[in-house]
Amino acid sequence: MATESSGGHPKAAQQAPDPINRPLETSTISLDEAQELVHIGTWQWDVATGDISWSDELYRIYGLKPGKKAIGFEEFIQLIHPEDRERVSGLIGEAYQSKRSFEFEHRIMLPNKKIRILEGKGKVVMDNAGNVVRMFGTSQDITERKKADQALYRSNERFHAVSAATNDVVYDIDLQDGSIWFNDVLCNEYKYPEQDSVYPRGWRVDHIHPGDRQRIKRSIAALLRSQDKTWAEEYRFQKHDGTYTDVRDRALVLRDSSGKPTRIIGSMLDITQQKDLERAKDRFISLVSHQLRTPLTSMRLLTEMLAIGYTEQLTEAQQDYIQKIESSTERMIKLVNEILDVSNIESGRLHTHLASEDIRTLITGQIEEIAPLTAERDTHIVYNPAEEPQTLTIDSVLFSQIVHNLLTNAIRYTLEKGTTVHVSFEKADEKYVLAVSDQGIGIPEESWPHIFTSFYRANNAIKTQGDGSGLGLYLTKLILDMTGGDIWFESEQGKGSTFYVSLPSDGMHHVQEGASLA
Ligand code: ADP
Repeated sequence: MATESSGGHPKAAQQAPDPINRPLETSTISLDEAQELVHIGTWQWDVATGDISWSDELYRIYGLKPGKKAIGFEEFIQLIHPEDRERVSGLIGEAYQSKRSFEFEHRIMLPNKKIRILEGKGKVVMDNAGNVVRMFGTSQDITERKKADQALYRSNERFHAVSAATNDVVYDIDLQDGSIWFNDVLCNEYKYPEQDSVYPRGWRVDHIHPGDRQRIKRSIAALLRSQDKTWAEEYRFQKHDGTYTDVRDRALVLRDSSGKPTRIIGSMLDITQQKDLERAKDRFISLVSHQLRTPLTSMRLLTEMLAIGYTEQLTEAQQDYIQKIESSTERMIKLVNEILDVSNIESGRLHTHLASEDIRTLITGQIEEIAPLTAERDTHIVYNPAEEPQTLTIDSVLFSQIVHNLLTNAIRYTLEKGTTVHVSFEKADEKYVLAVSDQGIGIPEESWPHIFTSFYRANNAIKTQGDGSGLGLYLTKLILDMTGGDIWFESEQGKGSTFYVSLPSDGMHHVQEGASLA
């Protein structure tokens, strides 16, 4: 078999032994193989004879064919990068004179003009009389390592430059030991004594306002459980003098190859001024709305009294005017209430009062409440409540408000009289879904993306139904966003719309105190 094999491959016997299949006794690698593996070449200079010898790997490092011809010192210097030649020859000369070992980095230029970086090390050998007889050394190609070092250096430099240039507190949490590094802003702006400092585990959380701390702790725990890369929260952070600053914290989570979080790097932006403005705006809206509501309520009461008590004395035209004043007042009260609701929710003053409620009762209640509007439009509402009670944990006021908005929209945005609005509430795919569908004007396609935006009204609605604020659906979406629900719709212009609201199977979620949508 062996004869056949070598006969089939006549050159096999002359080839270098295969290092993998080599018999055990000869399996130690040769010096040449070792040099090739680590990209280290060796050289030797016999001072007495003037002979210079290079290892094969050194030739390869210099882009030359191994062993082609001996390289003399002058020829060697020509292979060095022109800018480094003088320095290299000076260093070697100095080593020869001082008889000391040497070590330096230099560049070389390959025949193909590519530049590589080498690390050279050398030793001087002397005879008994102290004369130099031999010099030898190694050269290693460190180009890739240098590039990696430079890239790392640059990115470190960039990180420190950004940290120094910004007014934000920049931090870097090591999740292994919990330690946290802060840039100098913590010292300069927040007046903590140490610059460029590292604080122990828990220090940051301990300096979050007690009213925000639990919320932030839960939020961080949820972040670490998830696969999310980014995180953002607003909270109050304590300065060294004990006062608090409103901050917006945005962070990035770094993970290892298995997805385990290893570091959190983030920045805290001081938003005190913005928060003060927001608070002033909220106070202003709240004040104005309350001030407006009182005279409006009196106006409504007085016009109602006028309409009922003086029917006989009033002319038809006067009665018509009173009716118009009444409906305008009603619209203004609705608008003021909606603005107040939005302001309350956006600034985190929405409080949920969750309780187990029978959905059928709440929907029926709303249908009864809008009976005057239904009668005016001659609308037929079809709602077939389930036979069994449909109990769910919800905030009955918020849920009723949602049903009210959808029902009144379905009726108001249907011009034709005598149409039908269908209402249903069913469990589908682990959620509860409320559906309200009408045969009205529908929503033009170009308006679909904007329907849940504040103050947005579609063109066909503005033309046909003057009394709208564009706040009802925005408000509904805010409520659902904060309580774990969702809202969407299907619509065809001129044919009708169906609005869907989904609630989690365990009902509405509790809104964290102070949670703000802003
Ligand atoms: P408003 O009804 O006060 O304008 P909403 O926020 O309730 O405010 O609705 C926003 C807009 O969405 C409406 O102006 C209208 O263009 C559209 N819309 C809402 N419901 C319907 C519906 N059932 N049919 C057609 N358009 C609707």
